[in-house]
Amino acid sequence: LIEIPSTETFIYRSKLPDIPISNQIPLHTYCFENISEFSEKPCLITGSNGRIYSYSETHLICQKTAVGLSKLGIKKGDVIMLLLQNCPEFIFSFLGASMLGAVSTTANPFYTQAEIFKQFNSSKTKLIITQSQYVDKLRDSSENAPKIGEDFIVVTIDDPPENCIHFSVISDADEKEIPSVSIEPDSAVVLPYSSGTTGLPKGVILTHKSLISSVAQQVDGENPNLYLKSDDVVLCVLPLFHIYSLHSVLLCSLRAGAAVLLMEKFEINSLLELIQRYRVSVTPVVPPLVLALAKNPLVENFDLSSIRAVLSGAAPLGKELQDALKSRVPQAIFGQGYGMTEAGPVLAMSLVFAKQPFSSKSGSCGTVVRNAELKVIDPETGLTLRHNQPGEICVRGPQIMKGYLNDVDATSSTVDVEGWLHTGDIGYVDDDDEIFIVDRVKELIKFKGFQVPPAELEALLLSHPSIADAAVVSQKDDVAGEIPVAFIVQSNGFELTEVAVKEYISKQVVFYKRLHKVFFIHAIPKSPSGKILRKDLRAKLASSLASA
Ligand code: AMP
Repeated sequence: LIEIPSTETFIYRSKLPDIPISNQIPLHTYCFENISEFSEKPCLITGSNGRIYSYSETHLICQKTAVGLSKLGIKKGDVIMLLLQNCPEFIFSFLGASMLGAVSTTANPFYTQAEIFKQFNSSKTKLIITQSQYVDKLRDSSENAPKIGEDFIVVTIDDPPENCIHFSVISDADEKEIPSVSIEPDSAVVLPYSSGTTGLPKGVILTHKSLISSVAQQVDGENPNLYLKSDDVVLCVLPLFHIYSLHSVLLCSLRAGAAVLLMEKFEINSLLELIQRYRVSVTPVVPPLVLALAKNPLVENFDLSSIRAVLSGAAPLGKELQDALKSRVPQAIFGQGYGMTEAGPVLAMSLVFAKQPFSSKSGSCGTVVRNAELKVIDPETGLTLRHNQPGEICVRGPQIMKGYLNDVDATSSTVDVEGWLHTGDIGYVDDDDEIFIVDRVKELIKFKGFQVPPAELEALLLSHPSIADAAVVSQKDDVAGEIPVAFIVQSNGFELTEVAVKEYISKQVVFYKRLHKVFFIHAIPKSPSGKILRKDLRAKLASSLASA
């Protein structure tokens, strides 16, 4: 029997009751609101050198950094860019900027010069905080390019190269000089970039109110969803420039008074060594990291008995992989979260962490967060679907983005007039209200949890003089989840090779956006309105792989 979509709206809510959320205060005030309960406890632990910052010390350095930034001219509404690997200065700068009512745009330090400057120009960045090894990428010698020291300020957390300022100059300021600023709950605090359901990366405006709401949905109230405690040590190996880590690792831990163990980058031996040394209790990860922990023989040499919870997000986690890791950390509970930058970011989370765990099936990414609503719609008709019927997932609540920066059209095609954010993900809700993501209608490709926007690669391919048309789609991959592959139509008379196309792209993009395969075809399949028929290309790919 085919069930006809309902004409009334069918809405799912959390199994946990709604809670009052204090989202009318600034984010930094909210994060440090309960600090008197744990002021001398460890807040940040730097994995690379063992330096520990207590809560009171972290709070103080954030205040000093706010003063230092204001002395460099940063004020309410200004944008600073954090181009950093995980380090304490990331947190001091982010919360220091928040104290001024300024906004942090977060960027991957491995970005190429072109990628950094696209975000720099779009966000109107005034100051960049980075490491000296990345400063060369900020020196663009072309004539009209902005110049360090003249058009923008660069602060480095280590020895400053020419025209740059050392971080200690700002973090040594007198905290008593902190300017008093009134910060509206609806003003931006962070500006991550995401391609959303279509097109190029766009600035996602997350406000004080949206981030507080999203953190509160996880850790506040009687029986919180993500049950972090002040004696937890939370692993922070996922990059803080991605909202998953910034929100679910850093901000949720700060609110709960847990210690955050910062790791600059993933390296299996040091990761295991740090888990053992600091008795890490909560490990937020992504599926490729689960794979490493489940399969790498080195794991057997370390004591991982301190881990009480493993949380995976950012991409689908299969049952087999989850079970494989479970056998190595049998004492831990496993949870999955489902997020999207624009959703502020968490839409759903397993309730295994709550005091009364509700069932959580392998492959499910939990139930919708509290104080929010979720519905599943038929992408063609827009009508809501009931249990077990796959459709586009939409979410509504105080946590979702305010909109895309300077892009009214993209905003209105993502958040409708009733306030529903359309995710572009296809999923269904089972009889126990658990959410299963099964597909995506949006273009986005996710390589190891990182965003690869096809439109960005297609634009680069089309800038090649021998390429007449191009389309980029995803192919499933055991290690990365998905990899980007290109279909290309050559311009008449020119001979291109797969290697040449791959090289052309890899020079211009960060490593995870590199093309893995290139196919040459006669025409890109398109709809009458000119939209690339990505499904047809994915089917072509599947059949060519099947016959290979
Ligand atoms: P981002 O904005 O980079 O966090 O990417 C958001 C997208 O990642 C979502 O719209 C989904 O397509 C995907 N995603 C995030 N979490 C999950 C999950 N637990 N299972 C499946 N897909 C996920």
